[in-house]
Parts: sequence; structure tokens; C-alpha cells
Amino acid sequence: MDNETACCCSELADIAIIGMGDAEGMDARIFETLDLVRNSGDEKWWLYASTCRACGQNWVVAQEERIHDNYCLRHIDRDALNEIAEHSRWPDDFLTYEQILRLGREAGYVATFLDPKGPALVETAQDLRRARPEISIEDVAYALAIPTKQAERLFRA
Ligand SMILES: [Zn+2]
Repeated sequence: MDNETACCCSELADIAIIGMGDAEGMDARIFETLDLVRNSGDEKWWLYASTCRACGQNWVVAQEERIHDNYCLRHIDRDALNEIAEHSRWPDDFLTYEQILRLGREAGYVATFLDPKGPALVETAQDLRRARPEISIEDVAYALAIPTKQAERLFRA
């Protein structure tokens, strides 16, 4: 073993979208060295902060496991980590579920559901509307990566 890095932090972009259980095992390699520092808590259950024990890099992580099954990671510096730990002030990238769904969509890491009205789709569509009541049906469809017609049906009983 020559100078092989013990972690993959330096391979990641400032904002990285990684599929859960991707073929190269990237997610397993990343999370192997990340230690949880702080959970955001109940309201934003997808959000937490971690520090890499190999290189000391700090990350904000959003775990999107309802729809597209992605991790969104954002590089943060020591000051940003202190803001989180001391004042519960989180960077604004992953504060809504809509944002992290859109990041997955933009990265092209999207899921296909066999059941067009599956419970995860229905519940998430309702959550999106609760979080942003004026959200358009097109925005719901975009975030969920489904056709607009299908998104409309998610709101019908
Ligand atoms: Zn690292």
C-alpha cells in the first residue's frame, strides 16, 4: 500500500449527489469514514452534519430515501459546522425536501415507481405541498420525476 487516501472526500464536488447502493459502492466508501456530529432533528429528519475522521472535512448530508434514494453532500468549513453545532443554523441548500428531490432530479439520479400512486409518492407529494402551499403541479412532478398527469392524480383521493 503506497500513499493511498483513506477517504474519498477529495474526490467529491462541493455539492455531491450519490445514489444509495450505487454500483461502484461509492456511498459505502464515503460513509465509512464519516462520523455523525449533529442531527437536525424531527422536522428535518433527512438532514445531518458529519465529519470525516480520516481527513477532517466537514459535511452536511441530506439523506433522501423516500423517492430517488440519494445522498446529497455539501462541503462545509469549520465555521459553518460551528454554526450548526452551537446555533442550529444550517446552510440553506438542503433545508426542504423539495430541494433535495430536485438535486437528485438535476443529477439524473431518479427512481421509477411501478405503482403510479404508491404511498411514498402520495405522502411526499402532500409533504411538498404542506412545505410550500403554492407549489405548482409541474414542480411536484419535476421533483418526483413523474408526468404532470400522474402528479395530479396523487392529490386525488
Ligand atoms: Zn475525508
